[in-house]
This record gives sequence, structure tokens and C-alpha cells, in this order.
Amino acid sequence: MARKPAQTENQIEDLDPIAISDRQFDQASKYVKGLKRGLIEFLKKPKRVNIVNFPVEMDDDSVQSFEGYRVIHNRVFGPSKGGIRYHPDVTMAEVISLAKLMTWKCALVNIPFGGAKGGLVCDPKRLSERELRRITRRFTSELFDELGPHQDIPAPDLYTGEQTMAWIFDTYDILHPGYNNRPVVTGKPVEMGGSYGRHEATGNGCLFVTQRFLSKALIPDYQDVAGMRLAIQGFGDVGAVAADAFHREGAKIVAISDSKGGIHHEAGLDPAAVQKHKAEQGSVVGMAGTTAISNDELLELDCDVLLPAALGNQIHAGNAANIKARLVVEGANNPTTPAADRILQERGIYVLPDILANSGGVTVSYYEWVQNQVNEQWDYDTTTAKMCAKLYAATDAVFNRWQAFVVGEESAPERVPDFRTVALVISIERVMHATLMRGIWP
Ligand code: NAD
Repeated sequence: MARKPAQTENQIEDLDPIAISDRQFDQASKYVKGLKRGLIEFLKKPKRVNIVNFPVEMDDDSVQSFEGYRVIHNRVFGPSKGGIRYHPDVTMAEVISLAKLMTWKCALVNIPFGGAKGGLVCDPKRLSERELRRITRRFTSELFDELGPHQDIPAPDLYTGEQTMAWIFDTYDILHPGYNNRPVVTGKPVEMGGSYGRHEATGNGCLFVTQRFLSKALIPDYQDVAGMRLAIQGFGDVGAVAADAFHREGAKIVAISDSKGGIHHEAGLDPAAVQKHKAEQGSVVGMAGTTAISNDELLELDCDVLLPAALGNQIHAGNAANIKARLVVEGANNPTTPAADRILQERGIYVLPDILANSGGVTVSYYEWVQNQVNEQWDYDTTTAKMCAKLYAATDAVFNRWQAFVVGEESAPERVPDFRTVALVISIERVMHATLMRGIWP
């Protein structure tokens, strides 16, 4: 998405998703301890790529053909796990890069899953609920035995949600009678074995990671989010919950956007009121007492924390020099390009990377999977507290390793790595060591 090259006066950036994930991986590999070159080359590639094409009867009796992808990147730690997104611009390359990200994310928070991702090329905004149900059922049936509670476990992502997960579960369950199939998919409605706290997990997780990071005192004036001014791009499952969570802790949400545009209010927005306006009007745009801004303007707004929670490649070579936030918290996957990472690092702007900042979602998905194995349901506080502990541990691991490079305890082949590189180093090392411990087959 947003794949046009980002252009500055003297720089054109390659925004191909695989090129970007390879650049991030190659950069991290330079810092990996005990590197096994051949294994690293293997980890760069997906394990399996499924492409399916299928027809669906539409409400007007026409037949439309759809293309979907399910990519398995790695299963060293356990079954592969990753969301399914529905979007007109989704490509296989994007899904491959997101599947890899899931492997690193699960390894970083220490949950026993590998990485996968799915995508379906469609425009959900132009489809009726009945059409979406038929498309989802057919897509699930095409993947048939690729999915499984101990094999590959989907979850929601862009423009998919609880309802989509309920249809996937139902289809899989019909095709595999006689088993407890609940753990085949996470992000289900609570009434169907979904976990309390899953809906809020990614947004809450953004808050927990930010709080833990701020407690390290790297940003003068702020050791907690209270009083910080936030701009949030995207007001869906991640952005809207993050807005609520930060607001609750005393942060001021000065701007919010969605696909139709953004709103700005320096005195601070009330996320509940924005939610109500969006539910009534279909967008945050036009809310009384706010100034309209574009998504591009939101990214460059004067604020303390920028929280991208929508699409990839939003902070790129063309706008990174204009970002005014002191901290970027990546609610979305891949919102910052490698060139932008470099520019932000040189400007002293910290980035809490996607595999850390938005890992609350997959962490509670893991707890949902655990609960489903024994058909139990924990309460919201239990799930959220367990997730919080995992995210604190992951944030500490990243910070401590980064600190080792800063003070020279660990030698850096190049400059001191940024947090994304450090997080990737930790994850790659964990997956590499586990692969070697298991022993390469045969
Ligand atoms: P969602 O579909 O619930 O919400 C997406 C939001 O982005 C909507 O408000 C939409 O209007 C907005 N948006 C779409 N196009 C936009 C544009 N061009 N400019 C600005 N806003 C735009 O999706 P979500 O689940 O909140 O996911 C958002 C991001 O977070 C994705 O990158 C996803 O991969 C990532 N993520 C989600 C989860 C999760 O648990 N849902 C977990 C980890 C990462």
C-alpha cells in the first residue's frame, strides 16, 4: 500500500515490501551473535506461499473472482500465527513481508508461535455483509488443511474483525467435525471463545510499551505519558483503543485521522466523543470544534508522540525530516521505511518498532489459544496483566541490549543500532538458536 516511491530532491526510495524487510533483516544480521550464514539466508525467505483464486456469487447474481494469499514464514517455535487483511491494494509481496514480521514479533515476546499472514484482494467497503461472508467461507475452504489449531492460526487485521473470525471458525469447524476447533482462529467474539481483552490488546499494548520505555528516562521531561501530546493516524481496532488507553493515563490526544482525513484540536480530543461521531458519520472528519487536517499534515504535526495505526510506509524519505514528534510508537505494521528510520535516528527521534509496540495483539491471541485448548475463559484483568508483563519483559530486553551497544559492552559493526534493529537482532538470534537446538532435518 502507498507503494509509489517516496521521492526527495536527491533520493528515490524502493518501497517494495520484500526489499524493505530484506534491508531491515540484513541490517540486523550484522549485529547477530553466532551468525550461521546459510541459516540466515533461509530465515529471509518464507517457508510456504499459498495463492488461491476462487469465484463467488455476488448479491446481484454476477460472479466475481477473488485472489487470496496465505504465507507461512516459519514454524520453529510452534504453529504459524498471523492476521488476514482484506484490502484492494494487498499484494503477495506485502503478505510475505508481514508474515516475516510475525515470526520476529512472536519470538520477541516469547510466545510459542511462528509467523504467517494472509491477504485477500477485495474492497470490503464495497461489499455487503452477505458477500463478505461468502467470500470468507470460500477463502477458508480453499485453505482447508493449511489451517489448523496446531498448524496455522489466523487472526484479524486490516478490515477484518470478530465477525470475519467467527465465519472462519464456523467454516473450518464444519469441514473438520468431531474436534475442539476453537483454537484454529483467534480474535473471535467473546461469546464464541474469544478472549476478554483481545479487542483492546494491541492498543493497550502500545500504551504499556510506551510507559515502560519512558520509565528508562531517555526523553527528558517525560517519564510517563501524562501530559504528552499524541497524534494518532488510523482510528480502527488499534488506533481507537490506543487513543482511549493513552487518554485514560492523562495524555492529550491532539489529532486523529482515518481513511477520509484527520481532525486536530490542540486542547485535546475526547476519544469517546470521536468514536461516537465516527459511528454516526462514518468518519472522524467533521467533528464539531476541530480543525480539518490531512493525513500527511497529521504525520508532521507538532506533538510528543506520533502513533501510526493504519497502513504501511507512512513515514518515509519524503517526510521523515519533517516529523516533529520525539517518539514514534508503531501501532501499525511497517509504517516506517528504512530511509525514514535512518533520518529519524539521526534526528534523535526514537521509534518503538512494530514487532514490539503492537505485539500486544498476538500476545493475547496466544492467551486466547491457550484458553481454547481447555475451554476456559479468563477475565479481562487477568489477560491484560499477563500481556503487560510480557510486553514489559520484551521492552526491557530491547532496551538492555541497546544499552549494551551504547556503553560499548557489545561492539557494534557500524553505528549504534536503532531499536528496530536491536529488536530484530534478539528475535533472529532466538529463532536461529531454536532451529539449531532442534537440529536441522534430517
Ligand atoms: P482497522 O481496519 O480496524 O482500522 C484501520 C484504520 O486505518 C481505520 O480507521 C481506517 O479508516 C484507517 N485508514 C485506512 N486507510 C488510511 C489512510 N490512507 N490514512 C489514514 N488512515 C487510514 O485495522 P487495525 O486492526 O486497527 O490495524 C491497523 C494497523 O495495525 C495495521 O497495520 C495492522 O496490520 C496493524 N496491527 C493490527 C493488530 C490488531 O490486533 N488489530 C495487531 C498488530 C498490528
